[in-house]
Amino acid sequence: MTDTAMTFDVLIVGAGHGGAQAAIALRQRKFAGTIGLLGDEPELPYERPPLSKEYLAGDKPFDRILIRPAAFWVEREVTLLPGHRVASVDSSAHTVTITDGSTIGYRTLIWATGGAPRRLTCAGHDLRGVHSVRTRADVDQIMRELASVERAIVIGGGYIGLEAAAVLTKLGKHVTVLEAAPRVLARVAGAPLSHFYEAEHRAHGVDLRTGVSVESIVGKDGAACGVRLADGTILPGELVIVGIGIIPAVAPLLAAGADGGNGVNVDALCRTSLPDIFAIGDCAAHPNPYADGAIIRLESVQNANDQATTVAKLLTGEETPYDAVPWFWSNQYDLKLQTVGLSIGYDAVVLRGDVATRSFSVTYLKHGHVIALDCVNATRDYVQGRALVMAHAVIDPARLADTAIPLKEMLSV
Ligand code: FAD
Repeated sequence: MTDTAMTFDVLIVGAGHGGAQAAIALRQRKFAGTIGLLGDEPELPYERPPLSKEYLAGDKPFDRILIRPAAFWVEREVTLLPGHRVASVDSSAHTVTITDGSTIGYRTLIWATGGAPRRLTCAGHDLRGVHSVRTRADVDQIMRELASVERAIVIGGGYIGLEAAAVLTKLGKHVTVLEAAPRVLARVAGAPLSHFYEAEHRAHGVDLRTGVSVESIVGKDGAACGVRLADGTILPGELVIVGIGIIPAVAPLLAAGADGGNGVNVDALCRTSLPDIFAIGDCAAHPNPYADGAIIRLESVQNANDQATTVAKLLTGEETPYDAVPWFWSNQYDLKLQTVGLSIGYDAVVLRGDVATRSFSVTYLKHGHVIALDCVNATRDYVQGRALVMAHAVIDPARLADTAIPLKEMLSV
């Protein structure tokens, strides 16, 4: 160990969902050592999902999206170190170095840094008016500019892009969504769900274009004024939102020698290849039982929280490998999507219910087993379908499609 000014029994780097939950779970489990929760954002730990939903819409103020109020951290004796960015890690000295050159020591390090939004690389990517949606600062800047925006262009038809499109539409903006793949949500959902959301956005007036590639952002006086497509079309827009994924923030750990690439590799107990260093959340490439044990990264609150709990348990004497059922949600317009399981590698899709009623579920099968459900305004299916996913159940597709039979009755047959 070192003689650095500050040393914590547990130092958590990244004060987002995973980092905050790690500190919360440690104290819940009566961990009595010192805890430092360090993050590069200036705020108290806050919830990220509302950034593209209620917070952007102006329906929830910032203090209502805090993970815990300020007093909580004081009472639980968690030392918050906001506004600090770790530049490097020395795993033999058990220290991290902050960008200002100071060092902090640790006995155990939990790396919970999420990811940085992937940026465009084309001409005009750095013009004023081009934004990501990852932090409160991103969204506050978007909100400041909104008053002078008539047309918004969203690049990327994933959940965050589509949620932002729904909010901006509600705020009266003319919205265009540009997706390079042949359908929106192609990376995470089956075709019925993609086509349903495409139709919904169009019905709300969104100019949604799939199979298009962006050539550049067009600017005037240093500010964005549109997007040029590869076919030469120019779409006018003063606000450009880029939602094309994240790059896991693991450079300091990889430089310190940790195994990884697309994220840092961890085992089922969230241990990296470096001694006394764990990684959790969006940045952790882990073996997931719901992906047949494949090494994947998940970008969800569920995954960040449950991995945080796995580490907290281990540090308080309970070794429980991470095996939580993945779940996720997305709110667009009056549609509440809830997903359970992972649809990776599905070979059949069963539609349950009528898409036209705007309440239905899509069930994903692999070799006959139920591996995931996407439920739109269908909370009962979501709740009951979870058991099918956990049981890896084999159910006749005709029964799955029959809404007269509740999903909970299917397991027993
Ligand atoms: P984060 O919550 O991203 O926290 C990481 C923190 O570490 C950040 O503050 C980051 O700035 C900081 N950091 C990075 N590098 C360093 C460094 N070197 N030093 C110090 N600090 C550092 N998930 C859902 O399940 N449902 C949803 O509806 C949903 N909606 C979303 C909407 C938006 C707009 C976004 C951006 C995400 C959404 N997600 C949703 C995903 C979810 O928010 C993430 O999966 C979750 O936040 C991951 O938690 P994390 O702790 O891994 O990372």
